[in-house]
Amino acid sequence: MSIYEELNVPRVINCAGKMTYLGSSVLREEVMEAMNEAGASFVSIDELMLRAGEKAAELCGAEAGMVTAGASAGIIAAVAGVITGGDPLLTEQVPHPKTNKRKVILQKGHAIYFSAPMTQMIAIGGGIPEEVGTVSKTLPYHIENSIDEDTAAIMYAQSHHAVQTDMVPLDKVIEIAHKKGVPVLVDAAAEEDMQKYVKMGADIVIYSGAKAFEGPTSGFIVGRKCYIEMCRQQTKGVCR
Ligand SMILES: *Cc1c(COP(=O)(O)O)cnc(C)c1O
Repeated sequence: MSIYEELNVPRVINCAGKMTYLGSSVLREEVMEAMNEAGASFVSIDELMLRAGEKAAELCGAEAGMVTAGASAGIIAAVAGVITGGDPLLTEQVPHPKTNKRKVILQKGHAIYFSAPMTQMIAIGGGIPEEVGTVSKTLPYHIENSIDEDTAAIMYAQSHHAVQTDMVPLDKVIEIAHKKGVPVLVDAAAEEDMQKYVKMGADIVIYSGAKAFEGPTSGFIVGRKCYIEMCRQQTKGVCR
């Protein structure tokens, strides 16, 4: 009897794509083999996390990386990281860190729903989401004018869920943000290209391990070393 017969869960034919509600992806053969091998030993999880993060960074051409429980957890880690700066007390206070610099700007067409709202993930990370522009049009001045001293980051959704037309493109968002010293976080959860967004200058790029890469429920974030170090501290907080 198969495990799904035993649980009385009918199998389905997937004609929809990498959908969370269908189990995202079926595991690649190499992934199953690696999981079997890795699961048979005890290791230092701190060391494993560091090495796995380095591996992810290497594949993405990034300075540093960190493994997370999923892309959603990656969004939370990224937001909590840049808001707390890795400070231990603020890290323990997330999702209500006692700092004023908590605003996370996103274009209205990027306030997506991926079986959960993007804005909720930002809030769990301690961010206060501020949607700018309109669903059918957002212009650079909408973003520029919303950046103030309380702004912690700009979140950019690189996703088929997002509005595809008349949003400010990523290269422009990065230019605006960096002119004001604000980091750009890119949710590239389901994207296949592991290098493009790092190369464009995004500060943190968030991937799901279960979508394009056909792994189990998992994720990773890559980007600039100073920011990834801040995110790493969140394993002593919301990313536990
Ligand atoms: C699927 C998806 C997520 C969530 O990814 P998980 O790894 O399932 O947590 C986040 N953002 C986007 C754009 C997605 O497509």
